Amino acid sequence: MTPLHVLDVAIVGAGMAGLSCARALVEAGLKVAVFDKARGAGGRMATRRGELASFDHGAQYFTARSPDFAAALQSWLAAGVVAPWRGRIVAWDGSNFSVAGEEARYVGQPGMSGLCRHLLGELECASQHKLSSFERDGAGWRLDFDNGETAACRKLVLALPAPQAAALLEGQPDLQAQAAGVVMSPCWAGMLRFADPLALAFDGCFVNQGPLSWVARNNSKPGRPKGEAWLLHASSAWSQAHVKDKEDQVGRALLAAFAELSGLTLDAQEVSTHRWLYAQAEAPLEVGCLFDAKAGIGLAGDWLNGSRVEGAWDSGRQLAAKIIAAS
Ligand SMILES: Cc1cc2nc3c(=O)[nH]c(=O)nc-3n(C[C@H](O)[C@H](O)[C@H](O)COP(=O)(O)OP(=O)(O)OC[C@H]3O[C@@H](n4cnc5c(N)ncnc54)[C@H](O)[C@@H]3O)c2cc1C
Repeated sequence: MTPLHVLDVAIVGAGMAGLSCARALVEAGLKVAVFDKARGAGGRMATRRGELASFDHGAQYFTARSPDFAAALQSWLAAGVVAPWRGRIVAWDGSNFSVAGEEARYVGQPGMSGLCRHLLGELECASQHKLSSFERDGAGWRLDFDNGETAACRKLVLALPAPQAAALLEGQPDLQAQAAGVVMSPCWAGMLRFADPLALAFDGCFVNQGPLSWVARNNSKPGRPKGEAWLLHASSAWSQAHVKDKEDQVGRALLAAFAELSGLTLDAQEVSTHRWLYAQAEAPLEVGCLFDAKAGIGLAGDWLNGSRVEGAWDSGRQLAAKIIAAS
């Protein structure tokens, strides 16, 4: 049965791309709702929060390169949902540490997901709604979610990682082929809590050797609990090679790699891991977004625009502009 409530646009995916798209559409007066399979907004801008420590286990920080994104950043700084991270960032080449670029880095408050929650604001959002399929319904679409609920919309936006979008696009071979052509590599994240601060002269390090690609003292970011918390990211090659390993095995391996990098004997109070199956596009399409005006389906996401937070934001805005122009 068709739901009575027909949306102008249904947006599936409450990450940065879906939310920036939703905001721009709502500002243009369209009736929009956002759906996500997770319990909250943020997608890969994710934060795991505890009493003693918190971990941004996906995106670490973001930079602002375009004037439009820099203007949005100013409004988020003014709203207190973003703050500069002035951590000491270095790079390790296997023999030496060197200071990494001085580009200004920003983080969400009180965690990376805080910015997405701000963007979500009062938007209508259904969490724990995983889109299973969608089918033609008159001039629009009927969406079926895995919890048995349905929704009806005139236009549909999929703001999902490329492989997850491709899996849903059976009836749209052109869009499906473009999404299916983008490989997204995995990333294992390790989250370590320590009783005392580690004696390291840096707060973040790009690691260009061995299993790790990045380590960061999460509590050096503004607004985080004070407990000593280190976030580790494995390289995409290591993550791919260990993609099916058990969490405790991965935790031990990442802890050992961090001990080797730091030269410290590490006595972690807590070790946990998270596997990002679709962390970053190996070769983003760099087309901004995709929109089939005839079908009324658009795709947004970082895999269409630079593989980063700023690119995801811009992708959502570009898609919104196309939808508004076609409405
Ligand atoms: C480990 C890691 C480190 C990173 N580091 C940085 C960094 O330091 N700086 C930076 O700028 N970028 C970084 N990134 C990239 C950044 O996180 C992404 O570019 C950005 O968050 C992508 O936003 P998005 O909206 O395109 O996708 P996502 O954030 O992935 O949002 C997609 C949403 O779709 C939902 N979803 C998926 N399938 C379904 C379905 N069937 N039904 C309903 N909902 C569904 C998901 O739950 C998710 O919320 C990193 C990413 C990772 C994983």
